[in-house]
Amino acid sequence: MKRRSFIKILPANLLIIKSLASCQKPYLKNLNSSKNMAFELPVLPYAVTALEPHVDAKTMEIHHGKHHNAYVTNLNVAVKADPKAAGKTLDDLVKNISKYAPAVRNNGGGHWNHSMFWNIMSPKGGGAPKGEIAFAINGAFGSYDNFKTQFAAAAATRFGSGWAWLSVDASKNLFISSTPNQDNPLMDVAEKKGTPVLGLDVWEHAYYLHYQNRRPDYVTAFFNLINWDEVNVRFKAAIA
Ligand code: MN
Repeated sequence: MKRRSFIKILPANLLIIKSLASCQKPYLKNLNSSKNMAFELPVLPYAVTALEPHVDAKTMEIHHGKHHNAYVTNLNVAVKADPKAAGKTLDDLVKNISKYAPAVRNNGGGHWNHSMFWNIMSPKGGGAPKGEIAFAINGAFGSYDNFKTQFAAAAATRFGSGWAWLSVDASKNLFISSTPNQDNPLMDVAEKKGTPVLGLDVWEHAYYLHYQNRRPDYVTAFFNLINWDEVNVRFKAAIA
């Protein structure tokens, strides 16, 4: 390219660069959309094989690449179809979900929940909680073992598809709950409202290839994957 023509197109390039810079990757907490930018599938923070043997690679590949991807695609369609939903962040949509169409609830919840789920698991996770969340769990449930029993029960007894949660309520206390479908405790429609710091997907698509009907085994395996560093980050933000 000649220098002259490069200079000529430079201002337009700068505009493009500027608009790209203002669109953050929807990774971790950057779950924002703007009026002109679609929601995007976040990149997995590890390889699809990384959580084996607890979560097998095929399940991870389909769960992230197909299921989560479909929630993102369908959320973008649903937001376009519901003018009230345009330009809202994912958090804004989820917190006021009763205002929007059912497709925003199902797919917005799906996008929010899975974006959290990938990050609260880690190949280096598991074991006893550490940091501030360890004190809070002991305070709320007596011990980590009691917490595991109650959390596993919430996951096992959720009939059909849904999620089990550890959340912080308005009084900054921890509580365990479960929600149907792709709902979560952040939603204004939730039976018990709070800010989730840990969530477990108990849809069959999350475990069926490896565990078939043995949901309790999948729940037990999940405790080997919990990324307590990430849970602590979310817990501190929730009580701040
Ligand atoms: Mn799922």
